[in-house]
Amino acid sequence: MAAPTVTTAHYVNGSFTDGDGDRIDVVNPATEEVIASVPAGTPADADAAVRAAASAFESWAATPLAERVAAVTRINDGLQARADELAATITAEVGTPITFSSKVQVVNPVGITAGVLEEVAAGALDPVTFGNSTVVREPIGVVAAITPWNFPLQQMVAKVTPALVAGNTVVLKPSEVAPLTAGLLATIIDEAGLPAGVFNMVHGTGPVIGEALAAHPLVDMVSFTGSTRAGRRVAAVGAETIKKIALELGGKSASVVLDDADLARAVKITVANCFMNNGQACSALTRLLVPADRHDEAVQVAAAAAAKYVPGDPALETTRIGPAVSAAQRDRVTDFIRKGVEEGAVLAAGGPDNPTDRGYFVQPTVFGGVRPDMTIAQEEIFGPVLAILPYKDEAEAIQIANGTQYGLAAGVFGADADRARAVAGKLRAGQVDINGAMFNTKAPFGGFKQSGNGREFGRFGLEEFTELKSIQA
Ligand code: NAD
Repeated sequence: MAAPTVTTAHYVNGSFTDGDGDRIDVVNPATEEVIASVPAGTPADADAAVRAAASAFESWAATPLAERVAAVTRINDGLQARADELAATITAEVGTPITFSSKVQVVNPVGITAGVLEEVAAGALDPVTFGNSTVVREPIGVVAAITPWNFPLQQMVAKVTPALVAGNTVVLKPSEVAPLTAGLLATIIDEAGLPAGVFNMVHGTGPVIGEALAAHPLVDMVSFTGSTRAGRRVAAVGAETIKKIALELGGKSASVVLDDADLARAVKITVANCFMNNGQACSALTRLLVPADRHDEAVQVAAAAAAKYVPGDPALETTRIGPAVSAAQRDRVTDFIRKGVEEGAVLAAGGPDNPTDRGYFVQPTVFGGVRPDMTIAQEEIFGPVLAILPYKDEAEAIQIANGTQYGLAAGVFGADADRARAVAGKLRAGQVDINGAMFNTKAPFGGFKQSGNGREFGRFGLEEFTELKSIQA
C-alpha cells in the first residue's frame, strides 16, 4: 500500500498553517526517497501555539468532564476509522513492517485511549474525601508533548488523550523524523471538533521547537519521550520556570533466564522482543542473561532465530524486519556492532556490513560471550543487536541486570512462579514481564534511574496530567 497523502502543516488555534521558511525532508528509510517535507518551525511558531493553548485553557478546564470524554472518544473513533492510513504512514516514514504497524503501532494507541476513558468512567478524576479534606484533581494547564519517531502514534496518543480528558490544553512537537503520522493525528483531532487552541501541533527540530516549549513560561508541564540525552536537556531548560517535567527515556533492558526455565522458548521470545520494530523499541530486551553452563546452547538458539529475520521491504506483509529509520541511525548501530567485535564479544549472527545497496538496512545481530562492562552491554544501541551474557548464579544475574544507568523494563523466565516473581521484585525497572507475558495498555509504563521519572497509560498515566488540590472545611 502506498503511503496516503497527509497534511504537512502546523496546526495552531484550530487551523492548519504552513510555515514559509525552511523545510525538513521526510525520507522513506527502505527506499531512501524523499516522500514529503514539513515546515521547520521557528520559536515564533512555538510561541503562537503556546499562546493559543494558554488562551483556550480556562474554558476547556471548565468544560464538563462528560463533554471532554465525548471529544476524546471521537478522537479514538477517528484513529480506528483511519487505522489503515495510519499504519501505511508509519511504515512509510519509520520502516516498521506493515503487519507490526497495523497490529501494534495503531492498535496500542486505541487501546491506551480506551483504557484511560475506562479509568475516567470508574472515577479516576473524581474527588476523594477524608477527614475534613476534599482532594480534587485539576488539570495542570498547558502541556507540551515532545515525542520520538519509533512508535510515533503511540507516543503522541499516550500523552495527548489523557492530557485532554483531564482538562489540559496541548502543544505537540512530534519527531521531525516521523511527522506525517502526526499530521494524520492532527487531522483526526481537527475532525473531532475540539474548540480552537485546545490542541496545537508545531513541526520542527528538538533544539529549536523542543527547547522553545521547554523554556516557555506559559507551558506548565513538559511530557517528553525520547533519548536520555535530549531528556536531560529538556529537564535543564524547563527547570528555570519550575514546570513539571515528565521524562520517558532510553533503556537497556535485561531478559533474565533462570536455570529452571524453558531455555529455547525464553531465547526465542527474547530475540523476537529485541528485534521488534527493527530493534527500535525503548523497552526492548537487548541483554539476554543465561546460566553460564547453558550459554553456548542459548547462543545457538538465538543465532538460528535471528536467521529467520531477513531484512526486506516493510510494506510487504511477509516482512519481519525492515530498515533502521535513517542513515545516521544505521551508522550508529553498525558502529556499535564494530565496537562489540573490537571489545572481544563473539559474533554469532549478523555483523556490521550493510546487507543491501538501497535502504538503511542493518543485519540482525547476535553477540555471545558478552561481559557486563562492554559498550554493547551498557549503551542503548536502538537497533537489532542482542547481547548474550553468561552468569554464575541468581545473585550475579540480578547484579548484572541492574548494572546499567537504565531501568526501563526487564523480563524473567523460570518454571517456578514464586521464584520468578521474587527475582522480578529485585530488578530495578518500571515493568517486568514474566515468561513473555502480554503487554497491558493500562499498566503504568516508565522507567527507574536514567530511564526517566514519569509513568504513562491507564489510571497512573492519567494522574500525571493533574494537580492535586486539598480543600479543608
Ligand atoms: P530524541 O531524543 O532524539 O528525540 C525525541 C524528541 O525530542 C524529538 O521530537 C526531538 O525533536 C526532540 N528533541 C531532541 N533534542 C531536543 C532538545 N535539545 N530539546 C527538546 N527536544 C529535543 O529520540 P528519538 O531518536 O526520536 O527516539 C529514540 C529514543 O527515544 C530512544 O532513546 C528510546 O529509548 C526513547 N524512547 C523512550 C520511550 C519510553 O517510553 N521510555 C519510548 C520510545 C522511545
